[in-house]
Amino acid sequence: MHSPQFPAEPPSNDGVEHDFTAGDVPGLRSPASGADRAPLVFDVIIAGCGPTGAMLAAELRLHDVRVLVLEKETEPKSFVRIVGLHIRSLELMAMRGLLDRILEHGRQRPAGGFFAAIPKPAPKGLDSAHAYLLGIPQPVIEHLLEEHAIELGAQVRRGCAVAGFEQDDEGVTVELAGGEQLRSRYLIGCDGGRSTVRKLLGVGFPGEPSRTETLMGEMEVGVPQEEITAKVTEIHETHQPFWLRPFGEGVYSVVVPAAGVSDRAEPPTLEDFKQRLRTIAGTDFGVHSPRWLSRFGDATRLAERYRVGRVLLAGDAAHIHPPIGGQGLNLGVQDAFNLGWKLAAQIRGWAPETLLDTYQAERHPVAEDVLDNTRAQMELLSTEPGPRAVRRLLTELMDFDEVNRHLIEKITAIGIRYDFGAGPDLLGRRLRDIDVKQGHLYGLLHRGRGLLLDRTERLTVGGWSDRVDYLADPTAVLDVPCVLLRPDGHVAWIGDDQQDLDDHLSRWFGKPAD
Ligand SMILES: Cc1cc2nc3c(=O)[nH]c(=O)nc-3n(C[C@H](O)[C@H](O)[C@H](O)COP(=O)(O)OP(=O)(O)OC[C@H]3O[C@@H](n4cnc5c(N)ncnc54)[C@H](O)[C@@H]3O)c2cc1C
Repeated sequence: MHSPQFPAEPPSNDGVEHDFTAGDVPGLRSPASGADRAPLVFDVIIAGCGPTGAMLAAELRLHDVRVLVLEKETEPKSFVRIVGLHIRSLELMAMRGLLDRILEHGRQRPAGGFFAAIPKPAPKGLDSAHAYLLGIPQPVIEHLLEEHAIELGAQVRRGCAVAGFEQDDEGVTVELAGGEQLRSRYLIGCDGGRSTVRKLLGVGFPGEPSRTETLMGEMEVGVPQEEITAKVTEIHETHQPFWLRPFGEGVYSVVVPAAGVSDRAEPPTLEDFKQRLRTIAGTDFGVHSPRWLSRFGDATRLAERYRVGRVLLAGDAAHIHPPIGGQGLNLGVQDAFNLGWKLAAQIRGWAPETLLDTYQAERHPVAEDVLDNTRAQMELLSTEPGPRAVRRLLTELMDFDEVNRHLIEKITAIGIRYDFGAGPDLLGRRLRDIDVKQGHLYGLLHRGRGLLLDRTERLTVGGWSDRVDYLADPTAVLDVPCVLLRPDGHVAWIGDDQQDLDDHLSRWFGKPAD
C-alpha cells in the first residue's frame, strides 16, 4: 500500500469557509498570531484508523478533501473477532461500490434473531435488496475500509498517537505523542471508547459504568467435542453468557463471564479463563495455546456533544454500549457516512450555514436509541425471574410480524428517519436500492454526490449540477414523482415542483453555481 503525498501548501479552497470565531466556542483558545502558526497542510486530521476513521477518510476523499489519518498502533489489529454487518451498513457499502469486495470475505446469514438473541426468523419482505447479516472478521472489514480510503488518496500514518491539540478560528494544531505538531482545518476523534480527543475536548460522557464483564478469546481445547457440547447445553439452561464454539483448525472461540469488573486496560490471562471455566463449568476443558484474549464490559455512555468548534467525534469515541445485537461498528460507520459529505461541503465552501451541525442533530438521537435498545436487551438477558418473564412475553409478542419487524428495523438501522420537517413518511428515510433504467440506484451513488431521480422528466438540478446528479427515469419503481437524495442516500425532498425543488437544493447543497 502506498500513501500519496499532498502538496505542502493549501489549495485554492483556502479561506472559503469561516463559520465561527474563537470567541463563539467554549474552551476554544484564541489564536496567538496567524504568522506563528504552521501552514494548513491538511483539511482534516482523523485520530484513529478503526472502521469509523477509515470510512470517514474515504468519504472525505470522494470530495478531494486532504485527509491524514493518525493511528496509534503500528500494526493493524490481529485478533479475529467476527462482527456482523447489518442491512444498512451493507447498503452503504453497495452505495460506494464496496459490497462485492466485502461479500467475498464474509458469510451471509439470515437477518433475524438479533434482538436479545431471541430466536425468531426475520419478518418476510424486509424493505431492502440486501436483507441479510454478513458475519465478517473485524480486522478484515477494517483492512478493506483502510485500503479503500488509501486507494482514494487518504494518507494513513501508523504509530502516531494524538496526544494534544489546540484550536483557533482557522484550524487545529494537533500534537503527536512524540511532540510533532501538525495542522489542519478540522480534527475528528475516531479514537474509540477511551477517546483522547473527547477527553481533551472536555466533552462529558455520561451514562452507566460496566456492571458486568465478559472474557472472550480463542484457544485450543484438550477434551472431545461431545464433552463440550454436553456441558455447554447444561450451562445454557442457567442463561449465562457462555459459549465454547469451534472456530476452525482446532481453535475454539470462548466466552465466559468474568469474576467482576476490572479497571485494567490490559487483556486477561489464560489462567483467568481457566479459573472462570472451572467455576462455571466445573472444568477448564484443558484450554491451552491462546491466539488472543480479551475482555469487554457493558458500560453505556453517550457524548454530550459531537462538535466543539473544529473538533468532532464519531464512532465509539462518541458512544459505547454492550455488544448485544452487534451494532457498535455499524453505528460508527454510519456516523462517518453522515458526517463525511457535510464536512467535505464545509471545506469545499458550498455548505449551507447549519449543514455541519445537522450531523449531531441527526446522529445523536440515533445513538441514544441504540443505547436504549442495548439497555433493554441486557435486561432481557438477566437470569432474574422478572426479566425472564418479560423475555417470555416479548418472545410471544415477536410472533406478531409488526413487532418483529420494528425490532429488526431498529437493530439493522433501516428504520431510521431523520427529522427533515413535515412531509410524507419517506422524507428523511433512506431509499432502498431500487431498479432504475441504468441498473441499480446505489450504483449511481458511488461518487458520494446528491441525486435527483425524476420520473416526470421535467425537472432540472440547474446550478447544483456540480454537486447533484440527475436521472430522468419514468420507469423507476417509486410511488412518488421525484426524490432528491442526499449523498448518504436519505430522501431530502419529494415532489414535482421546480421552485420547491430549488428551495430544497439550497437547503441541502447551498448556493447554486453562477
Ligand atoms: C465482543 C465484541 C463484539 C462486537 N461485535 C460487534 C458486531 O457484531 N457488530 C458491530 O457493529 N459492532 C460490534 N462490536 C463493536 C465494535 O467492535 C466497535 O463498535 C467498533 O470497533 C468501533 O469502531 P471505531 O472505529 O469507532 O473505534 P475502534 O475500533 O476502537 O478504533 C479506534 C482506533 O483509534 C486508535 N486510537 C486510539 N487512541 C488513539 C490516539 N490517541 N491517536 C491515534 N489513534 C488512536 C485505536 O488504536 C483504534 O485503531 C463488538 C465489540 C465487542 C467488544
